[in-house]
Amino acid sequence: MKKYDAIFLDRDGTINLDPGYINSLNNYEFYEYTFEALKNLKKLTDRFCIITNQSGVARGIIDPDDLSMIHDHILNQFFNHDLNLIGIYYCTDHPDNPTSNRKPGIGMYDEAAKEHKIDLKKSLMIGDSFCDIEAAKLCQMESMLVLTGNGSKTKKMTNINPTYFSKNLLEASLFLSDAQ
Ligand SMILES: [Mg+2]
Repeated sequence: MKKYDAIFLDRDGTINLDPGYINSLNNYEFYEYTFEALKNLKKLTDRFCIITNQSGVARGIIDPDDLSMIHDHILNQFFNHDLNLIGIYYCTDHPDNPTSNRKPGIGMYDEAAKEHKIDLKKSLMIGDSFCDIEAAKLCQMESMLVLTGNGSKTKKMTNINPTYFSKNLLEASLFLSDAQ
């Protein structure tokens, strides 16, 4: 079984449903298999890190206080499931005026790597969008495209080239923990 220095996770459409611009904890829902999947993935790494674009803040759709409430909830749920989530890095930039933090920029990965001494080249990114796979490529890490959220649409793009594809996070975790 392959081991990773860290597993980076996208948020919306990867670990939770993506109804678009989640601006309240009431609208935040993990997939029913998320924690089973993460338990499997725990065999491959001892740390997880969430990297998420949240342009809804710059667009005025998401209140930063609600975003931090959602992230506190995620941190608590990981903790309750005995999963080592070392951080939730989020970028509130508007896509029209992005910094290098907004995926596919790798600013957030660099910051996480520096803060937690992560070897990005020995890590894995799991996400549902082009920007997740592209950022992973720029970090020279492996990537897994899940077909939830934007995933099926992303898979049809001609220039998408992840290391692996999977139906969802659970299938990804089974594949990675058993098949390799
Ligand atoms: Mg996503």
